[in-house]
Amino acid sequence: MAELIVSKFGGSSVANAVQIEKVRRIVEADARRRIVVVSAPGRAAAGEQKITDHLFNIATDGAHFREQRLIIPVSDSKKAVLDRFRAILKDLEIPPEEILEHLQRDLDCQLSGERRVAFLASRGEHYNARVIAEYFRRSDMEAEAFLPEDFGLTVSEEFLDAKLLNDAYENMQQLAEGNTIAVVPGFYGVTRSGEVAVFSRGGSDLTGGVIAKGINAASYENWTDVSGVFEADPRLVSDARAIPRLTFKEIRLLSSKGFNVFHLNAMLPCKERKIPIHIRNTNQPQDQGTVILSERVPEEGVVGIARLDNIAYIYLEKDMLGEEIGFTAELLGIFSDFNIQTYHFPTDKDDIAVIVNQDDLTGAINDLRRRIEDRLKPDLMDVAYNLSILTAVGLGLQGNSYPIVDALSALGEAHIPIEMIDQSPSQICFHIGVQQSVADDALKILYRALIG
Ligand code: ASP
Repeated sequence: MAELIVSKFGGSSVANAVQIEKVRRIVEADARRRIVVVSAPGRAAAGEQKITDHLFNIATDGAHFREQRLIIPVSDSKKAVLDRFRAILKDLEIPPEEILEHLQRDLDCQLSGERRVAFLASRGEHYNARVIAEYFRRSDMEAEAFLPEDFGLTVSEEFLDAKLLNDAYENMQQLAEGNTIAVVPGFYGVTRSGEVAVFSRGGSDLTGGVIAKGINAASYENWTDVSGVFEADPRLVSDARAIPRLTFKEIRLLSSKGFNVFHLNAMLPCKERKIPIHIRNTNQPQDQGTVILSERVPEEGVVGIARLDNIAYIYLEKDMLGEEIGFTAELLGIFSDFNIQTYHFPTDKDDIAVIVNQDDLTGAINDLRRRIEDRLKPDLMDVAYNLSILTAVGLGLQGNSYPIVDALSALGEAHIPIEMIDQSPSQICFHIGVQQSVADDALKILYRALIG
């Protein structure tokens, strides 16, 4: 089989006709780009909503936006979806009747419950793939929409958080055959009984990842509206650059700490087969982007600094708790009972802290504290809010503690108080907690000391 590239284009890359033409040029520029995975149209202008959100709103009778404190009636969402596709078709000079008629029929579907939500949510990707394949054909490219329902991208019956089934790998081999460019809608699959089920939000990345694995692609390109993974948030650190190469481990550490590049689970299939993931910018295809690999030569200590805000620090003191077998397990078990994810838990002889996202404590902190006090009887329990965790990541940190020293002295010189320090067991990252009010300065200082 020839070397193939799976190219996935996110919502902003396929939001309107101008963007879709950029996609076409990118695909045309390399004959290996034979599998093109597309998202639903994203925001066409600032202040607008994504098509997928309108679809969720239709499916939930307006509850989707109400939860975000927005009042957008279902009729407005239907109009927004139809208008967007109408505009795309018009600007791409594709006769709109057939597609719009099918879309209208789908929007009026009679399904109920989760099946209804999944089906409607998938329509943005479904119709975008059909439109884009048609546009490619009209531009003299050999292309076809390969729909999950047709080729059998089979998934579990968890309609709103579907998992891929193994037979899907067999079924997707047909995408790689022949010379046709396969345009595949991301985000959804079909159950064995042929019903639509969607992955979790952002799941088009997952579609691209599993297809790249299934056909053993030479690489998986993830086209977005940023030129890769930056060393630090470029809105704060204006000279931050895109990181040329990162390992899967590094990107997972950065992503779980505030780097929202793409769906974390989407990396796993590629990691398994050591398929490089190339993050690139549809609006600046000449930029090198970031390649995520299984292995790289660590040429520097720290490659990136992530930042996570809204952190709460729950501190417990009890004489000899470090010697009480099962104390930590019971404490963490309580957090798990409340469905609260714990990020770190530095511990010592007589005290322990648990670090969580403070939004997870909303509505729960009172009961959580009571349960901890009842079960574990700490001498003291205190909660500090509004912290930020700055996480420096780099393979080169392994066995090299100097960057930690540099980081602490730079913060010390700038009189920035440190609330927490934690080194990851892999030694390829360390975390520094500071008050959120000084986190902007702390990030800039760490960037200068460790990377810039
Ligand atoms: N359109 C879906 C979403 O907004 C999936 C995706 O774009 O990856 O979540």
